Amino acid sequence: MAKTQILVVEDEEALATLLDYNLTKEGFKVKIANDGEEALLNIEENQPDLVILDWMLPSISGIEICKRLRSKSETQNIPVIMLTARSEEADRIRGLETGADDYLTKPFSTAELIARTRAVLRRIRPALVDDKVVYGNIILDRTSHRVNRDDKEIHLGPTEFKLLEHLIQHPGRVFSREQLLNAVWGSDVFVEIRTVDVHIGRLRKALNKYKQGDPIRTVRSAGYALDKPTAS
Ligand code: CA
Repeated sequence: MAKTQILVVEDEEALATLLDYNLTKEGFKVKIANDGEEALLNIEENQPDLVILDWMLPSISGIEICKRLRSKSETQNIPVIMLTARSEEADRIRGLETGADDYLTKPFSTAELIARTRAVLRRIRPALVDDKVVYGNIILDRTSHRVNRDDKEIHLGPTEFKLLEHLIQHPGRVFSREQLLNAVWGSDVFVEIRTVDVHIGRLRKALNKYKQGDPIRTVRSAGYALDKPTAS
């Protein structure tokens, strides 16, 4: 299962290191940004699955970052957990109004943060945490490695399974071939870009074996996306 990617935006180095250590230990893939600009760059490049965002940051504040994320279609659905030293109720409300999905007041325990992280992911991005992922009429079961469309079992090779798993975790989002290569094969492997097309082709064929429609969309010169599959 592809690791859930979390971006921690925190200028206090000791806290950033602590969060990195604990979230990595929990099986997340963690990136750290020490200020707002670095955070925005990272979000644009890596599209993290969740952002843990400190309120008080140099240059661009956490609130401002959150607002910017919510104003763009590519980033508006990224879950955000806000961290703050402020404990006033008014600030808490302001944070949530800006579009944060949850809110933690410093000091907090890492156990608490991890519990909240999982809860937010489960609520907003269930495909990232649940064993069984349902998307339209497709059911992907991570435990048994089985895929069903309506009541019919779809047989997929391991690479096609990983491709589908990655696409289903980010419904409707367009991925370039390079991004799919990195996500499914890993960035340290040399695989020709055309290999992605071959496996997408196989996945398409398998998903449409019973003529229920092709849910994979080809976006010219951009890549591929998985649209919500429906029964024919
Ligand atoms: Ca800070």
